[in-house]
Amino acid sequence: MATGATVFFSVFSAPSAVNQTGVERNSNAVIVVEHPLIAAKLSILRAKTTAPDEFRRNMQEVSILLLAEAARSWETVPLEIETPLKKSDGQILRRPVVIVPILRAGLGMLEGMARVAPEASVGHIGLRRDEKTLRPVTYYCRLPVNLAEAQIVLVDPMLATGFSACQAVALLKAKGAQRIHFLCLVACPPGIEQLRSAHPDVPIVTGAIDPELNEFGYIVPGLGDAGDRYFGTG
Ligand code: URA
Repeated sequence: MATGATVFFSVFSAPSAVNQTGVERNSNAVIVVEHPLIAAKLSILRAKTTAPDEFRRNMQEVSILLLAEAARSWETVPLEIETPLKKSDGQILRRPVVIVPILRAGLGMLEGMARVAPEASVGHIGLRRDEKTLRPVTYYCRLPVNLAEAQIVLVDPMLATGFSACQAVALLKAKGAQRIHFLCLVACPPGIEQLRSAHPDVPIVTGAIDPELNEFGYIVPGLGDAGDRYFGTG
């Protein structure tokens, strides 16, 4: 188990995936990344006085830290490198990385992650809420072709009802995706239960779990509308 992270809702019967050992096992977990940097940055994101420029920067930085935790289980391949002084052992990632933001707020998480994984391909999934059924309807889906081999990072800052996350995972799996992590800044129990029950093979990596959803589908205390705050449209 990763140091500094808490796994809820799941008891690992064996250690979670270790580099070089194959496809991740025992991955039906919710990993809350307990880290002082994340706690401090999330507090900035939560504060209603935080201006869009500071909000953007902090969302990007938290996303990088969450990505680092998600990637802890990724396989690497050894290779020999030469430092200026001598030959040494190095590693490269075994699988291509694909980052998939759920539009629109997921774009904020992508921006940070793309800085530390610039080689990643990027897919986009756009979902809108059907006002009658209140369920997500796909209005845009453009994904790289290598999903079956890739390590996929699906990102949306708020795991609220979980319906959008479930739909996005289903779209990815329909295109062959096998290794998906769902990353968010803040999750809440209904969203976690929804995603876990539909897709127990998808680990959820989050900066925090807040207690509840209000009647408008906002996480409380949460941080408000992540997309509006990121893009300054609130
Ligand atoms: N989307 C948001 O932006 N915020 C929430 O609290 C829930 C969904």
